Amino acid sequence: MIDLNLAIDRNPEGPAPQLELGHLDTLWLQVTGTVCNLACLHCFISCGPKNESHPFMELEEVRRAVETAAEMGVKEFYFTGGEPFMHPQIREMIALTLEHGPLSVLTNGVLIDEELAGWLAEVFRTSRYNFDVRVSLDGTTPEENDAIRGRHTFEKILSGAQRLHQAGLNPVFTVTTCHAELAESAGRQRFFDLLAERGITRPRLKFLAPFKIGREERRGGAYEDFERLREGMLDEEARQSLQCSSCRMVTAKGVYPCPILIEEEGARMGDTLEDAMGPIKLDHPACYTCFVEGVTCRT
Ligand code: SF4
Ligand code: SF4
Repeated sequence: MIDLNLAIDRNPEGPAPQLELGHLDTLWLQVTGTVCNLACLHCFISCGPKNESHPFMELEEVRRAVETAAEMGVKEFYFTGGEPFMHPQIREMIALTLEHGPLSVLTNGVLIDEELAGWLAEVFRTSRYNFDVRVSLDGTTPEENDAIRGRHTFEKILSGAQRLHQAGLNPVFTVTTCHAELAESAGRQRFFDLLAERGITRPRLKFLAPFKIGREERRGGAYEDFERLREGMLDEEARQSLQCSSCRMVTAKGVYPCPILIEEEGARMGDTLEDAMGPIKLDHPACYTCFVEGVTCRT
């Protein structure tokens, strides 16, 4: 467990801690950059249909990053965006990555029609490594979810997830707790009840605290000045629990420490994975959320 007393006892004026990469266990790929078919109000990298700040990755860029990471002994891969299923070569990307290790694809579920659900379920059944799909849903009613993800998305997301389930693939649901009550046990139970009503009887749920950057900063407010990590706040266990001690994020614009910081000034580490093996400075406000909330983007 993280000792939060370490956080409040320390002088908030000290320098930010540095963190070494222990071993590259997890490789993230921002396959569709910041381009998304939704424009959720809590999106910490402000994705949307017109945001090409990070463009789509090319198939060969994905292949290079996956093969390099495999040579480094990576244990798992994650695809995210934006919306990964907007990429015209997403199926080739999934297939080539699954030659090298387990893969999870993070999606908003809206583009999952019957044909795609069937293809994904077939990949799940036949691939050598584990294959997971993670669907984001931010409420148990249209009012709750659509206030964050946009009009009519509740039904579209659930329909996509149900198609996956009916095809034989049990998706993980990711819930960002913009509505605080969803983090409580009664809120969680509402998700179980909703999914059971929809025929998903063994749901897998992951709850994540929001990061107060990107569009979420405008929706929910910015970080306070004291919400910063300082040297001495992290013991060894806390350091190892941060996902950036074992992951890197590859985008079309270079390599970053994690999926959260791709739009943060000064976070870019270099052009290639080899350039990004050094220590990082935990001097971004979002690092505070990772520490205090124990957030990891991994499943
Ligand atoms: S939170 Fe996900 S689905 Fe929503 S805009 Fe951002 S990338 Fe797209
Ligand atoms: S935001 Fe979180 S995962 Fe990213 S570098 Fe900071 S502590 Fe690590």
